[in-house]
Amino acid sequence: MPLIVVESPTKARTFNRILKSKEWGGDYFVFATVGHFRDLPASSMSVDTEKSFTPEYEIMEKKLKMVEKLKELAKDHDKIILATDLDREGESISYHVAYILGFVDEAWPDFTLKNKKNLERIVFHEITASALEEALQNPEALREDLVKAQQARRILDRIVGYELSPLLWKKLGKNWLSAGRVQTVALRLINEREKEIQKFDKAPYYLLTGNFTNPDPIRAKLVSKDGEQYEIKTKIDLFDGSYEYTKTTIDKAQGEAIEKDLLGDDFEITSIDQDVVNRYPPPPYTTSLLQQDGFRKLGYPSKLTMRIAQSLYEKGLITYHRTDSFNLSAKYVFPAKDYIVKAYGKKYALEKPRGFRTKSKNAQEAHEAIRPTKAERSLKELKKKKMSVQEKKLYEMIFNRALATQMKEAEIKVSVVSIKSTKGYEFQATHQQVIFDGFLRILSPAFTKKNIAALQATNSDTVLLEKLDVEEKETKPPYRYSEASLIKTMEEKGIGRPSTYASIISVIVDKHYVEKEYRYLKPTTLGATISDYLSDAFPDLFDLTFTATMEDSLDAIAQGEKKLLDLLTDFYTPFAKELKERQKDTDMIDVVEDKLEEPCPKCGSDLIARYGKYGKFYACKGYPACKYIKPNLRYVDKYFCPLCKGRIVMRYSRTGKRFYGCENYPDCKHVQWALNIPEKVVKKKIG
Ligand SMILES: [Zn+2]
Ligand SMILES: [Zn+2]
Repeated sequence: MPLIVVESPTKARTFNRILKSKEWGGDYFVFATVGHFRDLPASSMSVDTEKSFTPEYEIMEKKLKMVEKLKELAKDHDKIILATDLDREGESISYHVAYILGFVDEAWPDFTLKNKKNLERIVFHEITASALEEALQNPEALREDLVKAQQARRILDRIVGYELSPLLWKKLGKNWLSAGRVQTVALRLINEREKEIQKFDKAPYYLLTGNFTNPDPIRAKLVSKDGEQYEIKTKIDLFDGSYEYTKTTIDKAQGEAIEKDLLGDDFEITSIDQDVVNRYPPPPYTTSLLQQDGFRKLGYPSKLTMRIAQSLYEKGLITYHRTDSFNLSAKYVFPAKDYIVKAYGKKYALEKPRGFRTKSKNAQEAHEAIRPTKAERSLKELKKKKMSVQEKKLYEMIFNRALATQMKEAEIKVSVVSIKSTKGYEFQATHQQVIFDGFLRILSPAFTKKNIAALQATNSDTVLLEKLDVEEKETKPPYRYSEASLIKTMEEKGIGRPSTYASIISVIVDKHYVEKEYRYLKPTTLGATISDYLSDAFPDLFDLTFTATMEDSLDAIAQGEKKLLDLLTDFYTPFAKELKERQKDTDMIDVVEDKLEEPCPKCGSDLIARYGKYGKFYACKGYPACKYIKPNLRYVDKYFCPLCKGRIVMRYSRTGKRFYGCENYPDCKHVQWALNIPEKVVKKKIG
């Protein structure tokens, strides 16, 4: 009887359920390793840079028992089937399973597999009966190139981390700091943006908007006078690309002059440009897109989104969630069409399935986008399944997004209305009317609801200016990154891969190199100091292009087009030389402390930012003599605690989800998930 090895207990349970119910499946035993078990120990670098970067793997102490058990089990089974996840991490776990069971002779940087006929590797994108049957009938061998690509990344990151961190300890005098190859580039993106924001020259300008009646109201923006445009666009270069912003040329005095001039002027609609445009559904989710939407729509940090997706995958509900492919298989698109016809009617379905072009070069590794394993399994059908609220929300998002790709495009009538005055002023309004909602029916019904009315105005109508809004505006600096836009930029620039975005972000947040201000990430003074020092000391290593090239080289190893040792040597020789230079420079760098302007009310010392289990707070510098602490509360305007009338503050749960609580915590324990919710849904406890 074959022994199937997977990495997670949930996955093992799903396997067992499927195998037991199938004729061809009764005779398997499924075992879960519960993640990685053989790795580089944390106590030392464990990579011999003098000897071809030989990794010194060790079995993790807490996994020793599991390994013994696995070895025992293997004795009783004639065949071992490796069934870990299909990406490089999964392949690497399979490799180490093969190693401890005696199938591998390691001769770094190579290895040979022996006794091959008793070892199989199965690869599948979803844990369903049909996918498992197909995989079991078409077993492969261990994919050695993927194992090598994983080892190369692990060794590369280990060297950078373990050789650079002590340098930071010396320079900054804090022996808990860490530097990482990709994490520092992500930190740099955030830090450079912060500097660009500080540098940005905010300029005031005036925006004039007319409220006309025709007799229906039309709200139109003042755009020109005698053909001369008021709006100007400016483009500036940023570290990660460019940024364009608009302003008008109107200042305060001019705004007032125009307002006077317009009194008693006559207005007429001089043109209505109409066009019916098709709006197409967005592509199905890749890892990056799922993380972005998880953050934007559900407020989940990327790490949480990945954890939920992992669970949905392991339960057999969605396809593999680490992917950069837009492909949807025939297994999905045809049943999806049937479902659309049944649920929404024929006019919402497509004749032929719609495909999307993928930019990614790693097609072999990631064959499909993230989609439900059963096109017709809507959330309603899952009612009886044991699923958390978060799993339900993410599943529904994935279900809708995938289904929308196979729905008809929406048709929207766009009208641009021009209103001219006898004195030569021109106003413009844009009106949208959804003629056919298509995929919007499930992806944004709110948009349809808002834009359903037809335009009432007709050309040559005279209209009346009821009121002119004269607003003072200010040019806006580029935005700070949110988790979503950071992941988007990282993907665009080729920094990191689907399996790494979430961990990169969580490490710089956990180390307090960046902090969240509402939805946005900004560097702490510590993070800014580290980023400035490292990018100055190692200009190549933390350059965007260099990091992207490195990712490409790792992909090349995965595709068998590059040798692991070549990559490590090419990287290490210049790095070691640069590092030596930097180590000579022993000047310390002062980290500007993040402190409040107000002094400690008890003793007058500075109040310094500190980080605890529940986030940031300010503590007296005189600690331990003075124990004064000031919480870092983010008050929400106009909301008060229903229990004690204290002010409401925004907080984050341990999983990173936002919630609202009372400022008087822990004396008052009132919490709620959202503002504006009826009191009866207010929850007592937040995990
Ligand atoms: Zn004090
Ligand atoms: Zn309260």
